[in-house]
Amino acid sequence: MRRIILRIENKNELRLSSARVSKKQLLSFIQENKVWILEQHKNIKAAFLEDTSFYYLNKAYKIKHHNESLCLDTETVYLNPLRAKQHSDMFYRKCAKAYLPDRVDFWTKKMGLEYNRLSFRLAKKRWGSCNTKRNISLNPYMMKLSYEMIDYIIVHELSHLRHMNHSKVFYECVQNYIPDYINIEKEIKALSLKLN
Ligand SMILES: [Zn+2]
Repeated sequence: MRRIILRIENKNELRLSSARVSKKQLLSFIQENKVWILEQHKNIKAAFLEDTSFYYLNKAYKIKHHNESLCLDTETVYLNPLRAKQHSDMFYRKCAKAYLPDRVDFWTKKMGLEYNRLSFRLAKKRWGSCNTKRNISLNPYMMKLSYEMIDYIIVHELSHLRHMNHSKVFYECVQNYIPDYINIEKEIKALSLKLN
């Protein structure tokens, strides 16, 4: 049999090719070796995952694999590569629910405000939102950021209870409570790029 090349592309795509094998032969090779190929794909995906890092409270943790649910020690996060996304989403959600409600209450009291409902929604880009019904929504992924950044996001959303826009007075309200908000906003933007 002629040589068939298995190559990795775009970090997690497998590409099979061979110079002198027909498409038909290649397809039957794939059929016959399906289990093995899928196994290789899994390994490759897992290997690349170990290269990236896991963020929690503005600290990057090394990723190591194990077959159980996610756990964290001082430098490393252990997670199951096949459930990585699911388990880390659960982790951020759990941390968000444990930490954020008290923090939101702390700031609403300090700012003399009241809100209606607080909910959590995992999102790729948006850290939080606030609507005219005075409902606040926060993104659990903000647990990847520092305490300071988290406070800024909370104060930002709560300030929308006063001003439903990003006007000058809105930012004056934010600045009353987070004097250094411009720099914090920049840090969040810079970190967001790394996280995506
Ligand atoms: Zn806003």
